[in-house]
Amino acid sequence: MAMENELSPLAITDGLATRFMGQNVLYYPSLPSTMEVAKKEAQGGAAQGTVVIAGEQTAARGRLGRAWLSPEGGLSISVIIYPEITYLPYLIMIASLAVVGSIEAVTGLKAQLKWPNDVLIHGGKVSGILIESGVRGDVVDYSIIGIGINVNIRIADFPGISAIATSLSDELGVRVSRRELVRRLLVELEELYLALPEGKAIFKEWRHRLVMLGKKVSVKSGETAYQGLAEDVAGDGSLLLRHQDGRLIRVLAGDVSLRDLDDSG
Ligand code: ATP
Repeated sequence: MAMENELSPLAITDGLATRFMGQNVLYYPSLPSTMEVAKKEAQGGAAQGTVVIAGEQTAARGRLGRAWLSPEGGLSISVIIYPEITYLPYLIMIASLAVVGSIEAVTGLKAQLKWPNDVLIHGGKVSGILIESGVRGDVVDYSIIGIGINVNIRIADFPGISAIATSLSDELGVRVSRRELVRRLLVELEELYLALPEGKAIFKEWRHRLVMLGKKVSVKSGETAYQGLAEDVAGDGSLLLRHQDGRLIRVLAGDVSLRDLDDSG
C-alpha cells in the first residue's frame, strides 16, 4: 500500500544524509505507542539514532499522561539517543527546532513554539514533543525523543481537538509527504544533536522562536496556579515568570500547563 511504503525503513533510510539519526528504522503500521516500543529497544541496547515509527498510534500519550491523538496520516516517531546528562535540558530545544525547521523546509509554513513543548501554526497546535529519559544517578541510560506531527489529518474530523489543533494539510490545502518530512527532520535533528556542545546558539534560536514571552500567562503546576508575565526563559529551558507581587518565579518544564491570558480575555 502506498501509504505504508512511504514510511517503510528503506523509504526512510535510502540515501539519508545522516551518520546515525534514522539509520536504523523500526516501522509498524499501527502501534499503541511508539514511546513504549522505543523504551524497550533502548533498554535492549538499540543503536543511537534508532527510530520507531508508526503509521498510527492507538494509545499515544503526551505529557502528564494526557492522550495524544495520532490517526493514520500523522507522523509518529520516537528516536533513541544516549546523551550525556548535561545535555538533557536541551533535548526539548533541539527536537522543537528540528520540527519547526523541517516543517518550514518541506511546506514553507512558518511555525512557532509554545513553551515548553508545543509547535504552533497560526496559533493551532500542529505537533507535540515528549522527552523521556532513563537516568540512574548521574548516568543516562537512554533518552527518547517522541514527536507527533499532524501531517495529513483533517482536524475537523476530530472534534476533541478541533478547537486547538491544526495540521499541515489543513494549512496548505494539499497533502504533504511524510517521507520527505521525516527525512528532513532526522537530518536537522542530527545536526542539532551534534551541535549540543555549542549549546548557547541552540538556546538562542529556541528562545527566539518562543511565542508568549512578554505576555500575561497562567501556569499550572499540580495544584498550584501562578499568573504573571512570561518574562524570559533561562539557559536550562525553565520559564521565568514575573508574579504580580514582583517576585520572579522559575518554572521547570516538567509538570506545567501554560495558558495565554491575553487571548482568553
Ligand atoms: P497543552 O499545554 O497544549 O494543553 P500539554 O503540553 O500539557 O498540552 P501535550 O503532551 O503536549 O500536553 O499534548 C496533550 C494535549 O494535546 C491533549 O490534552 C490534547 O488537548 C491535545 N492533543 C491531543 N492530540 C492532539 C493532536 N493530534 N494535535 C493537537 N493537539 C492534540
